[in-house]
Amino acid sequence: MVPSLPTPPIDYIPSDVNIPDNYVEHTLATTKELPPITLNNWWKELNYVSTIVLTVTPCLAIYGIFTTKLVWQTALFSVFWYFVTGLGITAGYHRLWAHRSYNASVPLEYALALAGAGAVQGSIRWWSRGHRAHHRYTDTDLDPYNAHKGLLWSHIGWMLVKPRRKPGVADVSDLAKNKIVRWQHQWYLQLLIIMAFLIPSIVPGFGWGDFRGGFFYAGAMRLTFVHHSTFCVNSLAHWLGTTPFDDKHTPRDHFITALVTVGEGYHNFHHQFPMDYRNAIKWYQYDPTKWFITVCYWLGLASHLKAFPEGEIKKGQLTMELKKLDRKSHTITWPKSSNDLPVITWESFQEQSLTRPLVLISGFIHDVSSFLDEHPGGRHLLAKMIGKDASTAFFGGVYDHSNAAHNLLAMMRVGVLQHGLELESERAIPPSQRLQIVRAVQIADLIRAADGGENMFSFPSPAGNLYSADEVTKL
Ligand SMILES: [Zn+2]
Ligand SMILES: [Zn+2]
Repeated sequence: MVPSLPTPPIDYIPSDVNIPDNYVEHTLATTKELPPITLNNWWKELNYVSTIVLTVTPCLAIYGIFTTKLVWQTALFSVFWYFVTGLGITAGYHRLWAHRSYNASVPLEYALALAGAGAVQGSIRWWSRGHRAHHRYTDTDLDPYNAHKGLLWSHIGWMLVKPRRKPGVADVSDLAKNKIVRWQHQWYLQLLIIMAFLIPSIVPGFGWGDFRGGFFYAGAMRLTFVHHSTFCVNSLAHWLGTTPFDDKHTPRDHFITALVTVGEGYHNFHHQFPMDYRNAIKWYQYDPTKWFITVCYWLGLASHLKAFPEGEIKKGQLTMELKKLDRKSHTITWPKSSNDLPVITWESFQEQSLTRPLVLISGFIHDVSSFLDEHPGGRHLLAKMIGKDASTAFFGGVYDHSNAAHNLLAMMRVGVLQHGLELESERAIPPSQRLQIVRAVQIADLIRAADGGENMFSFPSPAGNLYSADEVTKL
């Protein structure tokens, strides 16, 4: 009998349990996209429900601005309702249901399900299914809002037309068994009307007699802002900003995106650590959704807030910093390594020194002709070392030269003295090269070469500073 791992008790079967190993490649190769949208077919390809919602709402808002006076109470309430319904999406749809980054108590779940309905972005179930596909298939055609298809497509285009391809499989069976998610799905239309238009109209109406202003400002205009705020997470957050944790995919971190998305702008972090309840990890970064979840935690309404271990987060940051430094180091001209220099015998060094100013330091032979007159200590001190080993004098015997001097000296290398290079000598490595970024594969190559070859000299260098002592050449 084949032993099997104990499986935890589970009362639902994930929809992707039998997914093939080459699912993405296979699906992209075997399923067809809908035809491209042209002037002749666009009216057949439109998603009429979304198009109407996304065009009528801003038109109502604009009509309201020109026909309805905005009173300060309604203005304040509209901002408040923007944050309520916005948090319904960010703290509810996104971080709670799509990513399960914390547990919410029943009252909080109901509140978020209601608030989210007021943002008119589909039910929790539909939204989370698309969002899980977005994370799993980021930047591929199985991602419903693939950022590689352009800013307009990822922002709104993908909703205005019929999906060109079915989004990649993403399991939401955990949500299918959630009572509150099912309840919201069932009553979605009624909840939407109440939360998106009824409450925004009647609160200002009964509160300060402004039904009309409530409908246009707290209803239509607020909804337009909430829509585009969420859409910016798919467009702006995959386009504007930095990649401090990983640059493999499009998600980026930017303060402006955070500002317009109720804190979802640290999207590079989010795609790396999607189950973290935070988007912003620093206290001064703008993430009101994280603050809201934290307050709910203090109030006992939320629990099990998930945060990735600090060390794992730092690994990503460090990798990106090293990558940046590596790129920077490639813009600098470095000294020739022992690998790239001819190996010279002592006799040849002596002979050649009669015709050109050669000085030996730490096993390297340097041609100092361009530097003789520039030497801060004077030409005479340098000239008297021609044809000699000046290591002792250079490293403190006469003057303990600066790092800059050592770096400069290394640029004058023209050869290596046979048997004259000290293995792993600090002095043989200019200070600028003592710490270097070496790729793991290069280290492996170095180790292999050192193991396999006899008479090999080596010292750390990304170029793989190895040469055979037999390869003696004349200058
Ligand atoms: Zn994203
Ligand atoms: Zn997400």
